[in-house]
Amino acid sequence: MRLANKVALITGASSGIGRETSVLFANEGAKVVAVDINDAGGEETVNMIKQAGCEAVYVHADVSKAADAENMVRVAEQTYGQLNILFNNAGIMHSDDDNAITTEEAVWDLTMNINLKGVFLGCKYGIPALRRAGGGSVINTASFVALLGAATPQIAYTASKGGVLALTRELAIVHARENIRVNALCPGPLRTEMLMKFLNTEEKRQRRLVHIPMGRFGEAKEMAQAALYLASDESSYVTGTEFLVDGGITAAYVTPE
Ligand code: NAD
Repeated sequence: MRLANKVALITGASSGIGRETSVLFANEGAKVVAVDINDAGGEETVNMIKQAGCEAVYVHADVSKAADAENMVRVAEQTYGQLNILFNNAGIMHSDDDNAITTEEAVWDLTMNINLKGVFLGCKYGIPALRRAGGGSVINTASFVALLGAATPQIAYTASKGGVLALTRELAIVHARENIRVNALCPGPLRTEMLMKFLNTEEKRQRRLVHIPMGRFGEAKEMAQAALYLASDESSYVTGTEFLVDGGITAAYVTPE
């Protein structure tokens, strides 16, 4: 098993990437601390893991709140004795997030607080725990939009993900000699609730698919597999990367016919 004897804390664990990663990490031997604000979804993720005979606990935490972030790390250490893997994955894409002129300040603040400050707070309390465990792996979910301009305006989301990427690089350097690796997972457009609620017609989906060389959306399971590599000791020389898992979208200038 690729994560035997490891404890992994995963935020945004109630759905999408977070849920698939929680299930996969548990199947690979990790004890999972599943974190979210959606308690019903989080409990369901934990039940899925327990039904497979693996170990997990759910913790309610709003990643944008310092006290919650501190508590989720405390629960991990109290329940399982240590923390080895920190997956800062929770994020939102607000329906009123648009261009700089039309986006409300409140939408900007909420997006930044969850998507960027949430990653900062996860690291603020999680990295000391990784140190206590003798090292570990941090994975921060950014997005391909951290590298490309977005096809449709979503200024706060794009800026927040750019921030996650920059923060990841700096942390990777600062902690490189402490056996703590920090990488950004940069998913392409996925067939998850987050994106499909916006791409809600066949026409809108096709318009986006034109830009993806593989001609399809990614799956949350495919992101979980990438996160597994970054979490495991197989990536022991990998730090500070923008780990793109995007069907080729970032490499494309034109897409094949
Ligand atoms: P999702 O909406 O299925 O999952 C996000 C989870 O985060 C939800 O369970 C939600 O309840 C939780 N969450 C929201 N705010 C929170 C908060 N304040 N505290 C704790 N939990 C909170 O979406 P997903 O596609 O699985 O997205 C996961 C990550 O991947 C996000 O950071 C997202 O920005 C990123 N991402 C998604 C796509 C995509 O196309 N879906 C592409 C690139 C990056």
